[in-house]
Amino acid sequence: MSNSAYAENDDRREQINKSQTLLNSSKLFCAKHSIIEDVVSTSHHSNDFIQTRNQYIVERLKLVCLFFAISVPISSVLDFIVFESAQAKLLLINRLILSGALTALYQLIRRSHTVNMVRLVLTLSFLSPMLFYVVMELSLTQTMAYRDIPLSFALMPYLAIVMLGLFPLTILGGVTILTVISLPLAVLEYIQYAGDYIVVIDKIWLLVLFGGVCLWLQSGQMVMLMKLYRESTIDTLTGLMNRRVLMRQVKRIAKNSKYTQGSFSVMMFDLDHFKRVNDTYGHMVGDKVLVTVSSLLKRELRNSDVIARFGGEEFLVVMPHLALAPATQVAIRVAEAIRKASVMTDEQQKITFTTSIGVTQFIVDEPISQLFKRVDDLLYYAKEQGRDRIENGLNVG
Ligand code: GH3
Ligand code: MG
Ligand code: MG
Repeated sequence: MSNSAYAENDDRREQINKSQTLLNSSKLFCAKHSIIEDVVSTSHHSNDFIQTRNQYIVERLKLVCLFFAISVPISSVLDFIVFESAQAKLLLINRLILSGALTALYQLIRRSHTVNMVRLVLTLSFLSPMLFYVVMELSLTQTMAYRDIPLSFALMPYLAIVMLGLFPLTILGGVTILTVISLPLAVLEYIQYAGDYIVVIDKIWLLVLFGGVCLWLQSGQMVMLMKLYRESTIDTLTGLMNRRVLMRQVKRIAKNSKYTQGSFSVMMFDLDHFKRVNDTYGHMVGDKVLVTVSSLLKRELRNSDVIARFGGEEFLVVMPHLALAPATQVAIRVAEAIRKASVMTDEQQKITFTTSIGVTQFIVDEPISQLFKRVDDLLYYAKEQGRDRIENGLNVG
C-alpha cells in the first residue's frame, strides 16, 4: 500500500488515521479472512458490515423485547395454578415490573440504533429477566423448599441464555454478555450456598453447557450472515465492493464529513475501448484486464479509500479527507500504473490498456446524485477529449 502521493497532506494524516478506524471500508473487500477471524471479534469487520449486523440485531431485539413484554405478565396465569396465592401475587407484581422494563428497552432501541446503544439494550434485556429470577428465587425460597419450585420457573435463566443464541454475535461479544448476565446467578449461588459444593458444581456445569450452546448458535448465525453479506456486496470477478454497498458507504462518508468538516473526493474510471479488447481477444482476456485493474487499484490506494466496481468496466473510488488537488495526484499515479500494466493472452500476446478518469470533490450539503453526475460528466468529457486522460474540477469543461 503506497502512501507516497499523500505526503503533501501530512497535516491531515491524523484525520486520515482516524477515518481508517472509523471507516475501515475496504477491509472486508480486499482480504480473505478465515471464519475464525470473522467470528472471534469485530476487528476484521468493515464498517458497513458492522452497520448491517447492527440493523439485523435491532430487528430481532425489538421482537424479543416485545414478545417477552407481553408474554411475561400472561405467564402469571400459570403461577396462580402452581404457586400459592400470596406467592403468585408477588410474582405478578414482579412480572409487571419486568414487562415495564422490557417495554422501556423496546422504546429505547426504536429511537436509537447506535452500535453502543444496541449492545447496552441487548445486555439489559437479558440481564433484567436474570435479576427478576434471582429476586424471585430468593423470596420464594423463604417460604418454600428449593426442590418444590416448579421446573418451568427454575429453568428460566437457562432458557434466557439459549435465547441469546438468536443473535449473530461474535465470540467476544457473546462471552461478555453471557458473563454479565450470569453475575446475578453467581450472587444467588453464593447466597444460597450451604456447603453443598456438588450442587454448585452441577449448576455451574449446566450454565457452561448452555453458554456453550448459545455461543455455538451465535457463531452459526454470524457465519451465515457474513456469507450472505459477502455474496450480496462483493463483485465476484474482482473482489471489490459492488455498487449497492458503495452507495451506502458514500452516504455515510458524506454524513460524516459534515461533522469532521473534512471534504472527500471521488474518481470514476472507465477503461478505454474495452469493447475492442473483448471483440479482439475474447471475454476471458477482458476479464483478466478487469482483475488486473482492480488489483492495481487495491495496491495504489489506502485502506480507508472505498474502491468499487461501479459497472462493467467502470470503477469508482471515494477518498475520504482528500481535497481535489491531492486526489488528482492519486488519479495521475493510478492512470500511470494502469498504462504500465499488461495481461498476456493464451497466445502469449501482451495487451496493454488505458483509462479515462473524472475526479471531483464533494461540496458540503450537495446531494450525492449531483456529485455522481459531476464525476460522470467529467469522465465523459475526458472521453470526448481523446481518452487516456484525467479531467478534474468542480465544473465540467
Ligand atoms: P469507451 O472508451 O468509450 O469507454 O469504449 P468502451 O468500448 O470501453 O465502452 P463500451 O461501454 O461501449 O463497452 C464496455 C464493454 O465492457 C462492453 C461489455 O461487453 C464490456 N464488459 C462489461 N462487463 C464486462 C465483464 O464483466 N467482463 C468483460 N470481459 N467485459 C465486460
Ligand atoms: Mg463504460
Ligand atoms: Mg469503456
